[in-house]
Amino acid sequence: MRYQAPRGTNDFVPGPLVKDRIFEVHRWQNVEATFYRLAAQFGYREIRTPLFEDIELFIRSSGETSEMVDKEMYDFRDKGDRHIALRPEFTAGVMRSLLEHGMSNQGGLSRLCYSGPVFRYGRPGRGRYRQFHQAGLELVGTASPLADAEVIEVTVLFLKALGLSDLKVMLNCIGRHEARLKYGEAILDHVSSWLETQDDEQKAKSRKNPLRMLDTKDPDLRDRLAGVQSITQFLSEESREHFDLVQTALVQAGIPFEVKTDVVRGLDYYNDTVFEVVSPPLGDLALAGGGRYDNLIQELGGPPTPSVGVGIGLERILLTLEDLGQVPAAPTLDAFLVSAGAESLAEVDSLARQLRQEGFGVQRDLDSKNLKGQFKQADRLAARFALIIGEDEMASGTCTCKELATGVQTSVPRSEVSQWLRLNLV
Ligand code: AMP
Repeated sequence: MRYQAPRGTNDFVPGPLVKDRIFEVHRWQNVEATFYRLAAQFGYREIRTPLFEDIELFIRSSGETSEMVDKEMYDFRDKGDRHIALRPEFTAGVMRSLLEHGMSNQGGLSRLCYSGPVFRYGRPGRGRYRQFHQAGLELVGTASPLADAEVIEVTVLFLKALGLSDLKVMLNCIGRHEARLKYGEAILDHVSSWLETQDDEQKAKSRKNPLRMLDTKDPDLRDRLAGVQSITQFLSEESREHFDLVQTALVQAGIPFEVKTDVVRGLDYYNDTVFEVVSPPLGDLALAGGGRYDNLIQELGGPPTPSVGVGIGLERILLTLEDLGQVPAAPTLDAFLVSAGAESLAEVDSLARQLRQEGFGVQRDLDSKNLKGQFKQADRLAARFALIIGEDEMASGTCTCKELATGVQTSVPRSEVSQWLRLNLV
């Protein structure tokens, strides 16, 4: 039996070892490092929470009618009969942690960032996985529209820093509870004849959360929804003003955006600002999505703590970069040490040790391979230089330094090899 990675999951492998190289680990590391660097510039500090939580946390926060909770949760009972779910997103766990450690009681803001795997049992495809990775930000403890704009700005700067320039920020305001209740009634009214023809389950679901119908993939329902009012008509004065200020702040930050009233997001905890970022190669598949969640912490038993956040899909970024041919160079090895003859083995070994101490990345043969075999290894490891010590070099106290890309060879006194490498590794 040959095992395969579970359906909808990916291995991230060190390149260049395999043919399908999109998910090479160095590409991911580059994305993650760029994210953390930028987040740190804005004062976001990393938080790490468990991969699994009590399932109630996700039901409570995202809502039981959300597709994520209703259909996509990886849940199980553990040996202590606790009902557990692998996290389908980060925000709920991060807020649970903030509350548990009293971080939200200390007043002031918390700026948090993270990156790691999340799990959703959806239908896999390109850009849709069952285990995927999100980087994200949470700006906790402020109702300021500047916070919404900041989270969007960091997201856009991050994607731009990776070389993605053709970005579209789609922005909407979904209002507060009141507005959504009224809007929900308007939607139900609009599709009432369609709803009558549906089974009891669909009826109950639609009545419980009518806004979710706007996300529908059912073409019939989509037709029925044509001409339905937009949420904008139901917004309170307060929500409108907030939305205006978010837009002003984005203009000020030089972040282009488009108001799209059909961006509603699938989770219950959002209010007012919601947004998604898309980029052409992936079309409809959003690279990032987020919004304001002023009531979530209270919902989880904490004090009123207005907050805003974003989740960014790392695999989708890697696919976009691949489609655009914007791929970081694979890491190389500084030097592979070649011993031309058994008598130089000890010398090669001690030179390797010395060069590593000086900070170089160095490997050597472990299996007594012949010269050809050793050069093959050097190529496979993408070594910049082969440092060769054989009988002649032993006698003259030198080392032959060969640049593998050009084949150019230089004889260097052994005591000067590290200096030579430093000069030539540019
Ligand atoms: P969401 O909260 O569902 O909008 O997720 C935030 C981001 O995670 C999305 O914008 C995507 O980039 C990414 N994402 C969501 N679902 C998946 C999935 N099944 N596979 C890969 N990436 C995903």
